[in-house]
Amino acid sequence: MQLSSRATSLTSSLTLSIDRKAKAMKSEGIDVCSFGTGEPDFDTPEHIKAAAMASLEAGFTKYTPSSGIPELREAIADKFLAENGIDYKPSQIIVSNGAKHSCANAILAICQFGDEVIIPTPYWLSYPEMVRIAGAEPVFVQTSEENGWKLTPEDFENAMTPRTKMIILNSPGNPTGTVYSKEELEALAAVAAEEEILILSDEIYEKLVYDDVNHVSIASLGQEYNDLTITVNGFSKAYAMTGWRLGYLGAPEPIVKAIDSIQSHTTSNACSFAQKGALAALKGDQQPVFDMRDEFNLRRQYMINRFSKMQNISIVRPQGAFYILANVSKLGLTSQNFADRLLSKANIAVVPGIAFGDDRTIRFSYATSLDVIKKGMDRFEEFCRTL
Ligand code: PMP
Repeated sequence: MQLSSRATSLTSSLTLSIDRKAKAMKSEGIDVCSFGTGEPDFDTPEHIKAAAMASLEAGFTKYTPSSGIPELREAIADKFLAENGIDYKPSQIIVSNGAKHSCANAILAICQFGDEVIIPTPYWLSYPEMVRIAGAEPVFVQTSEENGWKLTPEDFENAMTPRTKMIILNSPGNPTGTVYSKEELEALAAVAAEEEILILSDEIYEKLVYDDVNHVSIASLGQEYNDLTITVNGFSKAYAMTGWRLGYLGAPEPIVKAIDSIQSHTTSNACSFAQKGALAALKGDQQPVFDMRDEFNLRRQYMINRFSKMQNISIVRPQGAFYILANVSKLGLTSQNFADRLLSKANIAVVPGIAFGDDRTIRFSYATSLDVIKKGMDRFEEFCRTL
């Protein structure tokens, strides 16, 4: 079978494969504590489901405009202005099948063979593969625990070449939980602006920030930066809507036109009645979002507390998303080996850091109940003691 090099050069998603393994063990009756998942364990709020169901009942079951129904694009533009301080016209918004799709569309529209895309490591594992699918080359820049897993302007500058086309920033970050401050983003944006490097800003975890930190959108920091930025967001994490497959982006007009063209020839519109649910999500009561965040925060604090008492394992206090990245390198195993043993010997599912480009670490998601977290952390402590 002659498959394309585009396809054969990809590595399959490690997060999904660990999840599959853990689910298979669970279905055999094994009590697995799963810290592997990247999705909220809450159900979608009722008023959002009701809006989608009502639209189905009303026969809203046909194609919509490729880039989304006008009222949703308008609501997204309103949201960007009110919450993020970004002035996008509705015509600058495209609704897609998840933020993953929005990221892929943006990369496909902008990057091609010969281009380089800077990706701070540890990274969300789909970015490099999306860049490769577009025929471009990912350029990884290792960040450090000392810097809170944040890219510095100096590192960014050093990684730049005449071929650099784009940088991908993800704040709050997966897998690190890192949240960049306004000043840090300004410094990075200034470096990008000097060489007119485009910025893909993935803000999917925007609503999940803790410790009184604020989420800042890089495109809000000045028109010069707005002109270079594609802002990606979505409904999966904030509204517990992972299965609905709805994400969106805002971008300068020429980029939006190119993305619209790609989307109209590949997937067409996102699901019609899901878009009606998304509209209710944006326009309706936001209390469920705050309640979910408060619950995540309790779990986060509990886990930080447990990790702080463990020897030989270090973490950077995460201030966003629902992940904790633990450095386990002192225990002397590769991250894959560590994760495999953890699953087979202690029935704990985590994601090995190698999936995110950092073999010293493993990622814990706290998108699971506090009971599971308590039991899992007890087991984890015991596992590390006996290693
Ligand atoms: N970006 C990041 C950083 C993510 O972690 C995820 C989900 N794991 C996504 C984008 C994609 O989210 P979705 O496609 O469900 O909107």
